[in-house]
Amino acid sequence: MINLIFLGPPGVGKGTQAKMVSDRYSIPQISTGDMLRAAVKEGTDLGKEAKTYMDAGELVPDRIVIGLIAEKIESGDCVNGFILDGFPRTIAQAEELDRILNEKKIELTKVVSVSAPDEELIKRLSGRRTCSSCGEVFHLVFNPPTNDGKCDKCGGDLFQRDDDKEETIRERLRVYKEQTEPLINYYKSKGLLADIDGAQNIDAVFDNICSLIGPKG
Ligand code: AMP
Repeated sequence: MINLIFLGPPGVGKGTQAKMVSDRYSIPQISTGDMLRAAVKEGTDLGKEAKTYMDAGELVPDRIVIGLIAEKIESGDCVNGFILDGFPRTIAQAEELDRILNEKKIELTKVVSVSAPDEELIKRLSGRRTCSSCGEVFHLVFNPPTNDGKCDKCGGDLFQRDDDKEETIRERLRVYKEQTEPLINYYKSKGLLADIDGAQNIDAVFDNICSLIGPKG
């Protein structure tokens, strides 16, 4: 079993890397951001509550995301391991995760901490465009779609996430530093932390992460 947490600021490429690692090692990527966006799209009560926080660049209350994660871990989707992408984001979430994993006698393998300078993160996030049909992610400069505004994969319309607008990006970075960065020391003191330089290109970051995890079992 490979049980990973991907930690890092918005725009560092956590989601991209989590997806690549998920494909390589055949373990599910569990993204609380994706789960919340799906709930917003479906218009559920949970989605409606989450949306106000997300649009403002704030964190959704712990009880909501902890509920989503607990359900996922209970569901049996994670019998071969998991990659938590974007969870935990507060010390309270990390402590609750510890409790859930202890109860199930599941051990974390590593916490992969990916970092990059703020200016790089802002540049990446403000150019990000997402497909409204299949969720594929593009970048106006680094990974532009072949046809303007259209997804290469499915032809769907590309849009800019509300929380990828510059003002919200700055708030998300502030929230990250205040509430999520303390997790770096939390996991360092448990001997689980591995630092990765996220300012490198996508393939170099991926190689670094794979050499940490080791060969495919
Ligand atoms: P992401 O796609 O991971 O950048 O998440 C997008 C937004 O969803 C965040 O800015 C938060 O508002 C919310 N969110 C995602 N994961 C969490 C979490 N673990 N705790 C609180 N809020 C979260």
